[in-house]
Amino acid sequence: MEKLAIVVPCYNEEEVLKIASEALRGVLDDLIRKGKIAEDSFILFVNDGSKDRTWELIEEEHQAHPVQVCGVKLAGNVGHQFALTAGLITAMDLSDVTVSIDADLQDDVAVIEEMIDKFHNGCDIVYGVRKERKTDTFFKRTTAQGFYKVMEMMGVKTVYNHADFRLMSKRAVEQFSKYQETNLFLRGMMPLIGYQTDCVYYDRKERVAGESKYPLKKMLALAFNGISSFSVKPISMILGAGVIIVILSILAAIYALISYCTGHVVPGWTSLILSIWFLGGIQLMAVGLVGQYIGKIYIEVKHRPRYNIEKVLK
Ligand code: UDP
Ligand code: MG
Repeated sequence: MEKLAIVVPCYNEEEVLKIASEALRGVLDDLIRKGKIAEDSFILFVNDGSKDRTWELIEEEHQAHPVQVCGVKLAGNVGHQFALTAGLITAMDLSDVTVSIDADLQDDVAVIEEMIDKFHNGCDIVYGVRKERKTDTFFKRTTAQGFYKVMEMMGVKTVYNHADFRLMSKRAVEQFSKYQETNLFLRGMMPLIGYQTDCVYYDRKERVAGESKYPLKKMLALAFNGISSFSVKPISMILGAGVIIVILSILAAIYALISYCTGHVVPGWTSLILSIWFLGGIQLMAVGLVGQYIGKIYIEVKHRPRYNIEKVLK
């Protein structure tokens, strides 16, 4: 029987930790009773440098349930994607299959059983997909949808409406651990792993307690990271725009020369100023965008460790 590890990244989740632990232990008990997973399956909470009592609560849970609750303490806050990676790679050596889920129980724990069934049928990755997002605000829904569309336009393969709720077999995590990039966007990396995959569908719920740890700024950063780490199309688009503008300005120059020769000199101060500003803006934008890519290269070539594990409770 395979040993399951449920990996849960936590950042300032003191309000939900006990509730999550109880709900997930319930899931483990149920699956063990049905003979679908090994008896020593466990939950792995990853404390992502929380500033509240999250780690103390994880320790308490571990003391109360030494087999079922384990913990990883990161030395500082590294963000959801890195915390999840740290958890998955730690779990890889301790289990046969992992399921990653957020601490706030917005994702439906009831479909974990379906994921396990699909795993037993030979899938290495099973994506949790949100059927509808009624509980998300209109803003979050539309921006998220726009994001998936842009990703598609940029030629990046992602699973529509899938966040980081997914099952991964040991060999899928092993393969994933070989992707050593520092600019992480897990959703874009998973389809690159290959193997047999499938989806399970569920309704996304409200957070059980606490508030979102993904403010707009982090959301935009994740979205930009997703696009720029997987596609160089924005640079080609800037290049294309540059070529079009140069062609237009050559045509304008020809027109200006003809006007000069035929004596119709236009006192074109307005157009001059406008075009200087416009082109200046485009140039700044282009340089800025290229700069973002160079910045990423700079960060990648340093090969810094992506996270620092301070302590493991197991
Ligand atoms: N999270 C994390 N580190 C961070 C921010 C968030 O580990 O810097 C965790 C958080 O505790 C939660 C998950 O990532 O388990 C998703 O965050 P949240 O539910 O706040 O995002 P939302 O569902 O609002 O997009
Ligand atoms: Mg959430």
